[in-house]
Amino acid sequence: MKEKETPAMEQYLNLKAYYKDYLLFYRLGDFYELFFDDAIQTAKLLNIVLTKRRGSNGKHIPMCGVPVHASESYLHKLIDLGFKVAVCDQLETAEEAKKRGHKSIVKRDVVRIVTPGTIIEDSLLDDKSNNYLASIVEKDGKYAIAWLELSTGKFFCSSTSLEMLDNDLLRILPKELLIPEKMNEEEKFRSILKNYKISITQHVHSFFEYNKSYRTICEFYGIKELGTIGNLDKAEIIACGALLEYVKVTQRGSVPKLGLPKTYKQQNFMLIDASARRSLELFVTQVGEKKGSLISVIDNTLTALGGRLLKQMLSSPLTCPRAINFRLSTVEFFVNNHELRKKVREILSHVPDIERSLSRLILARCSPKDMHLLKIGLNKIIELSELLSGFCECENELGIIHKNLGRHEDLYKLLNRAILDNNINNLKEGGCIDPQYNQELSELHYILNNSNKLITKLRSSYRDITGIATLKILHNNILGYYIEVSSNHKITSDIFILRQNLANSNRYTTSELKELENRVLTARYAVIDLEIKVFNELCSKIAEKYEQIVLAASTLAKLDIRTAFAELAVKNKYVKPIIDDSKKFKTENGRHPVIETNDKFIPNSIDLDGIHLITGPNMAGKSTFLRQNALIAILAHIGSFVPADNAHIGAIDKIFSRVGATDNIAAGYSTFMVEMIETATIVNQATERSLVILDEIGRGTGICDGLSIAQAVIEHIHDVNKCRAIFATHYNELTKMNGYVKCFCVKIKEWEGKVVFLHEVDEGIADESYGIHVAKLAGFPELVLNRANEIFQTLKKDN
Ligand code: ADP
Repeated sequence: MKEKETPAMEQYLNLKAYYKDYLLFYRLGDFYELFFDDAIQTAKLLNIVLTKRRGSNGKHIPMCGVPVHASESYLHKLIDLGFKVAVCDQLETAEEAKKRGHKSIVKRDVVRIVTPGTIIEDSLLDDKSNNYLASIVEKDGKYAIAWLELSTGKFFCSSTSLEMLDNDLLRILPKELLIPEKMNEEEKFRSILKNYKISITQHVHSFFEYNKSYRTICEFYGIKELGTIGNLDKAEIIACGALLEYVKVTQRGSVPKLGLPKTYKQQNFMLIDASARRSLELFVTQVGEKKGSLISVIDNTLTALGGRLLKQMLSSPLTCPRAINFRLSTVEFFVNNHELRKKVREILSHVPDIERSLSRLILARCSPKDMHLLKIGLNKIIELSELLSGFCECENELGIIHKNLGRHEDLYKLLNRAILDNNINNLKEGGCIDPQYNQELSELHYILNNSNKLITKLRSSYRDITGIATLKILHNNILGYYIEVSSNHKITSDIFILRQNLANSNRYTTSELKELENRVLTARYAVIDLEIKVFNELCSKIAEKYEQIVLAASTLAKLDIRTAFAELAVKNKYVKPIIDDSKKFKTENGRHPVIETNDKFIPNSIDLDGIHLITGPNMAGKSTFLRQNALIAILAHIGSFVPADNAHIGAIDKIFSRVGATDNIAAGYSTFMVEMIETATIVNQATERSLVILDEIGRGTGICDGLSIAQAVIEHIHDVNKCRAIFATHYNELTKMNGYVKCFCVKIKEWEGKVVFLHEVDEGIADESYGIHVAKLAGFPELVLNRANEIFQTLKKDN
């Protein structure tokens, strides 16, 4: 016969059966306990002690636990490692359970599900990064990806293809990916996912059913038909519906506010292919460090809102010259108006993350601190709005910014009256609402504040009655208020009721004291209850203004970026680029935005016309020149000034770039194979508006086939793709492709037996025998050098 489990273990097992894929934090007193495999795994991951308890059959059950008060940091670690956690709490006290019956076990249930893609807690989130939950689905051969951020209410979707998924994932960088079980069986899909640190959540096929998804979306937004929210295709509808369904499951019934899913139209944004994203080191360097990346230099944003927007913008630069120029003119305005820029930035530096506080409020997980932050945020919006009021009539972006900041005076005044700033941590402790805000609250506070006076009054009257001058009225948690006299005094008056006889003292109470105590205690509880009620009313008042606050928050983010770009332009001497529909790519004295911040930098100009071929020895500065031009192009397309004396760039639709080492080798490809895949992508996808930047084309194989491939690629790009391209190469033979390429080289000179890299790009072709030259400087014996020279001459003749 199966042994019966203890009631607590039975309760645990029932819950665990339902939350199989989650680590179950089971509340027992002051600890969250984990059992069985959960415990073994967690103890190891968190480096905490693994213990055991005796099960019903005498066998030991592995267990470990974390104290409730410190659980957030443990949770943080587990989520960071990609785990999902179900938090089970006690829903009643032990006394309440006892009241229900002698042996009743305390009611418990899962109250919170924490997964990497659905977290909203400040302590678990990086304030300058988005934390996306994404879903990828396939329907009738069409792929779609949807992604949302619960902590800010942002929601997007896009149709895509298996080939584009790598780009999508690299752009969005979701923390958690929801997919149908079947998809994970596809080899190609799995090989794409290998490159990412994403927590994968799989669901059965029925979770991704079209009609069900359609209904889920309609119900979520309270609409009858999806036509009203745009032209989503079936795959997009499934991706969006599945995400909403999953959010409902994890949020345990609290329905978040999410904007309608916005379709991300690739044609509106510059495509930076996966390889370009890595090799241009936009967010991290090729060795994975933030320092040395483009964003580390250009991020002068002062708010978390702005920081997140900057990342999005850098992931998706614009392609439309009009939209880019709209942004650029605001940056220009702030470049020219130092005083105003300083004032705006001073205010921005005090703006808290109102977007995330607001989302927690909507999900009923808002703390007094969030409300306090919202109050400060609204105050800062009002200050900014006043500062920019001179532009309210303008049709330019600043006029729109002023309008969209909105008016929040009433809500701010209300919060300012209601919220006390000195106790914003725990609503249940009371003290976060100003007593003056609510008549009833102020009366209760009067009782509380006067209780000491009333007790003192009572004590003197009892001293008079008993004639004991040392009679005290004290308080402890067991007796509450009590009267204490030392044992050598005797109390005769019958209003005193004996509570305790101690060795040195006796303790009494009176009906009067009890009544006073009741009033004080009731007042204390009543204050907390009333504060919670007032707090919830304030939450509803804020929720009514949700749309306006969200709009103001996104406007603040824009203002932050524009002024940050202006600051960057002034600090690093950037200029406003001309962006238009031409096919120009001309910069005068362009610089590499990152390298110039560390070393003395030699600027270089370019007037790119068709295909430019750059030759020069290693370390001369070829890669730097290639990258610098791609980065200038990207900066211009996100609406930033650029590091140059002048820049004129015709809008670019896609940037392809392979420069320096590539990290795909780990995925099992040879360097040459990776190069060929990347070059194939370029040849297949580059358009007349694209920019291609390739370092050492055709390397990694024999000279003959490498050269043949390189030449064929150049011919194709010239004749078919017709895009702007810069290639660096060691194959001097390519410089002979007259009519196809224009030749440039990076200059060097020899000085006192040493090579000096001038880092100057000039028209012409690099000296071919350069390798032998370097060998000489490295101390090669005369004999070997002479022989090398001989072979070099023969090879040249043969060609
Ligand atoms: P290559 O690709 O030709 O091998 P790199 O572009 O990697 O050369 O540059 C080699 C070194 O020279 C790098 O350390 C880089 O910082 C420096 N460098 C390159 N271009 C410049 C420049 N224009 N001004 C100053 N330093 C430069």
